[in-house]
Amino acid sequence: MDHFLYRNGALHAEDVPLAEIAAAVGTPFYCYSTATLTRHFRLFDEALDGMDHLVCYAMKAASNLAILRVLADLGAGMDVVSGGEYARARAAGVPGDRIVFSGVGKTRDEMHMALTGGIRQFNVESEPELQALSEVALSLGVVAPITVRVNPDVDAKTHAKIATGKSENKFGIPIARARAVYAHAARLPGIKVVGIDVHIGSQLTDLAPFRAAYRKVAELTAQLRADGHTITRLDLGGGLGIPYARDNSAPPLPLEYGAMIREELGHLGCEIEIEPGRLIAGNAGLMVSQVIYVKSGEDRDFLILDGAMNDLIRPAMYDAWHDIVPVIEPAPGAEQHVYDVVGPVCESGDTFARGRALPPLAQGDLVAFRSAGAYGAVMSSEYNTRPLIPEVLVKGDQFAVIRRRPTFDEMLNRDTIPEWL
Ligand SMILES: *Cc1c(COP(=O)(O)O)cnc(C)c1O
Repeated sequence: MDHFLYRNGALHAEDVPLAEIAAAVGTPFYCYSTATLTRHFRLFDEALDGMDHLVCYAMKAASNLAILRVLADLGAGMDVVSGGEYARARAAGVPGDRIVFSGVGKTRDEMHMALTGGIRQFNVESEPELQALSEVALSLGVVAPITVRVNPDVDAKTHAKIATGKSENKFGIPIARARAVYAHAARLPGIKVVGIDVHIGSQLTDLAPFRAAYRKVAELTAQLRADGHTITRLDLGGGLGIPYARDNSAPPLPLEYGAMIREELGHLGCEIEIEPGRLIAGNAGLMVSQVIYVKSGEDRDFLILDGAMNDLIRPAMYDAWHDIVPVIEPAPGAEQHVYDVVGPVCESGDTFARGRALPPLAQGDLVAFRSAGAYGAVMSSEYNTRPLIPEVLVKGDQFAVIRRRPTFDEMLNRDTIPEWL
């Protein structure tokens, strides 16, 4: 459920008409709903009720400071994957002991930053990383709390670009080698083992792969404890999918996911961490764009928008399907017209949808891409020297620009022409 609904014939974000925001900030723009972010965080938090737990929002899904502040104020932890994200978490007011650091290629500088600024744990993905982390911690006279990310070799049954839990993926340590790696970790003076980490992929629409992975984690917990390690924390990653299409079979709910976690891992007495990103931000944001032209082709009509693949890359990158809706509500039973919905960028890949049935649209009309809150703004670029589009946050009847559109001067001034030219 989200808070983008038609009221009096106009699509609203909570209590604010999207057309009003468009008039104030121009198009295209991203718009997020505070109430939806809040609701989604609470669903996860409540799903783990009764177990010692921390929901660490995977901020790579949407990392604007204002979004992070909304979640931080609700008590969220953060899952960060770079020094930049670590800096964002701290700037949004997240205490270090609520930040977990994930990622396959953490640098020594990033380790240094997190160890001096405060960190809950590093989720370590390789033996060389373990070695480097121990050295950095020793140089600072501290000990780094860690989990090892294990790769359970489970097929997440999702898009190949976002599956991470098969042995051919670059992530984690093969679960079969985990005991040897933990034994090594225990001997390193700058390392303190606190738990186990697993994350098998994104946009999972079935609980079975999660269950298979978590069952392996439960077995490993028992083995590692028998080997003498202290395992008090299980980080179960993110990955629960969202419904992108209205006719999709609905992915499992956070409540069902939480119940499954309790079934598989509840008896171990561990603190549970989860790292949802997409499910918290995805349906809490949409991208609003304007029709520039309607162009009639040989055998089809093109709806040419002012938004493009550089603003929302998911269709081009993951073959993603986004619901596209007019900002003015169509009359019930209104006729439909079939369009290819495209942006102005000079690539055929700049296509949002092919053969999409929509109410007839004209130049100047506004459309909204639903479910664009996660992996939308964060993956945008200035390709074609198109400015990064604004982000807007709504709360009740208030809205604010939380990232403004840069001017062309600001963009150009980042380049330098060497004086020897
Ligand atoms: C991407 C990622 C997440 C979040 O995945 P979602 O599908 O957005 O929930 C969580 N943990 C790690 C380690 C990730 O790489």
